[in-house]
Amino acid sequence: MSQPLHASDSASASTPPFSICVYCGSRSGVAAAFVHAAREVGHWIGSRGGQLVYGGGNAGLMGVVADATLAAGGTVIGVIPQALVDKEFAKRDCTELHVVDSMHDRKRLMAERAGAFLALAGGIGTLEELFEAWTWRQLGYHAKPVGILDTDGYYGPMLAFLRSSVAHGFMNDWQMDLVRIGSEPDALLQALVAESTPASAQDLSQI
Ligand code: AMP
Repeated sequence: MSQPLHASDSASASTPPFSICVYCGSRSGVAAAFVHAAREVGHWIGSRGGQLVYGGGNAGLMGVVADATLAAGGTVIGVIPQALVDKEFAKRDCTELHVVDSMHDRKRLMAERAGAFLALAGGIGTLEELFEAWTWRQLGYHAKPVGILDTDGYYGPMLAFLRSSVAHGFMNDWQMDLVRIGSEPDALLQALVAESTPASAQDLSQI
């Protein structure tokens, strides 16, 4: 596992009350609502002294949520594969920036350091991460809550497709119910934090 490239004193000073892994786009999207939502999520986490775990980049919504968390007084753990340090503009002012060898290491470390997962709007990287956290939950690899922040109806078509998957007999309702979906950051974050487990409470080494 990686050693942090940079860890400020505040990282070791106290344990944050909660830790949330946020998956989101390395782009900002067209509508301003996506940036506003990412900023609101970061501010919510930071203003409560919480910890953001994310992909360690400075681009798009990823940079927005990390900046907002730091600005509001929270801690930020960034986890980025060496190969993406330049491509995704690794965020050097994270409280801890972990540069890891592979995407697999990134995903496992992010999952271990968080007590809950939240997907904001994003592209295929975000979707891949969301579905992985969701399927790991379904398989019992972890018991951490998974949420989707559905800003501007972005996730509507995907959720409609997944409901049709239930209707076609490839999924069950209980699998859909494993994900908490909301359009208001405050209500969704409150619910996720209330259900979250202490970070690293589960060993994810078998993944
Ligand atoms: P995107 O939503 O496509 O803008 O990507 C958001 C983040 O997901 C970026 O940090 C990507 O590096 C990351 N990502 C891309 N592909 C994957 C993958 N296969 N597994 C995990 N993360 C990924």
